[in-house]
Amino acid sequence: MPVLANSLPERLDAVICGGGPAGATAAIVLARAGHKVALFEREHFPRFHIGESLLPENVPLFARLGVLQKIESAGFQKKFGARFYHQGTERKRLVRFARSIDSSRPLAFQVKRAEFDKLMLDHARECGAMVFEGARVEDALWEGGTATGVRVRLEGEAAPREIPAAVVFDATGRDALFSRKLGGRTRDPRLDRSSAFAHYDRFERAEGPEGGDIIILTTPDGWWWLIPLSDGSVSVGVVMPSKRFKERSGSVTDLFESSLAATPEVAALLGGAKRTTDVHAIADYSYRTAETHGDGFCLLGDAACFLDPVFSSGVLLAMVSAELQASAAARALSKRGAVTRRDFSPGDKVMRRGIGKFRKYVHGFYEPPLLETFYTKAPNEWIERGVTYVLAGGVFFPSLRARLLDAVFHGFVRLTAFRQRRNGCGEFARAAGH
Ligand SMILES: Cc1cc2nc3c(=O)[nH]c(=O)nc-3n(C[C@H](O)[C@H](O)[C@H](O)COP(=O)(O)OP(=O)(O)OC[C@H]3O[C@@H](n4cnc5c(N)ncnc54)[C@H](O)[C@@H]3O)c2cc1C
Repeated sequence: MPVLANSLPERLDAVICGGGPAGATAAIVLARAGHKVALFEREHFPRFHIGESLLPENVPLFARLGVLQKIESAGFQKKFGARFYHQGTERKRLVRFARSIDSSRPLAFQVKRAEFDKLMLDHARECGAMVFEGARVEDALWEGGTATGVRVRLEGEAAPREIPAAVVFDATGRDALFSRKLGGRTRDPRLDRSSAFAHYDRFERAEGPEGGDIIILTTPDGWWWLIPLSDGSVSVGVVMPSKRFKERSGSVTDLFESSLAATPEVAALLGGAKRTTDVHAIADYSYRTAETHGDGFCLLGDAACFLDPVFSSGVLLAMVSAELQASAAARALSKRGAVTRRDFSPGDKVMRRGIGKFRKYVHGFYEPPLLETFYTKAPNEWIERGVTYVLAGGVFFPSLRARLLDAVFHGFVRLTAFRQRRNGCGEFARAAGH
């Protein structure tokens, strides 16, 4: 049921711009804490979005948001692990989440984002958030450096209206409403990548639980993903250096199809599957923002930062940032009725730590030493368990054991780098142009 604009109270506790996983999570947390919160989403859900593969750490988060049962009942594809292969070689690495140092989180979900995002947004509504779809936030309202509300154009209204609020969250994803206006957004030159992707139907997956695995095929200059979904379809995407993407001669679809033709391993996995969607593309997808919060405002999820899709961390990072920062805002609102920069600092620290941990793996993924170490059986099973823990999303509050195992793994990466400098990079030579 759409919310009527005249039901908006004179002043809100919180306004959330954008209704993806970050925005919906923030709305759920604030509404469940009893605050008056409105969420403005530009589109009408369901709508297509990329980012279908979630991580085991999402599962306890769903439980904390009171949405786990709905997710389980929706019948989304269960994923128990990941399978990595390196093109043209026998190298492979099977990741089983149950073999992480925390075996209590053995599974994650793979979701059609159109359905998942709608489920989350509907849950936010049921929790008491006022959700407006077809509502585009044009800008924030400012008094000095403090955000005091938003200017939003509601559906069917000729003029935008100004809506005051004690705190404003930017959860507008890659549109990054605040940082595009305020500046401070930078690219990561080490992650200069672009991607093209589409959905296929009638995917013949492996038998048994492994059939739900995300499949990653690393290639000399990028990688492919195949993400099986519960309706028998599969999300297929290719990641390549942005240079190759920009210098293409034909359309994005031509590039996707020719890359597919040059990768017989993926074509073989797809077998008789047929493409059912257009080929979509996102160029130069990595960036970060220097200032992610201030008095009366906070950037969440992709509005603050996007790393790289390889370890399926985007939705988790979006939801964790939203849970942490909306909880901080809820506490401050209850105590003082206002939210300052200082309230968001602890959450920001946790996010920087988690993102930093993923970033180290993501940077390494495009370099021969980490790839060689990753594809080589670890000398001790605990090292593998520690890496699996990180790949499951255990990056925010790691135990001492998790940190030690991570340090040992990266020690092996450094040792491999030393050996490669002496002997050459072998199969992974071309990964970094060596
Ligand atoms: C190629 C690629 C593959 C990926 N694969 C994965 C994956 O497998 N797993 C994973 O976890 N992540 C993946 N991601 C990342 C994932 O898509 C994002 O990290 C995630 O969607 C971020 O959620 P969000 O809520 O921050 O933003 P979004 O999901 O983008 O939501 C933002 C919302 O804000 C709305 N909005 C924008 N501007 C306005 C405005 N002015 N007013 C009102 N509303 C507005 C938009 O309509 C949108 O609904 C991938 C990303 C890329 C580029």
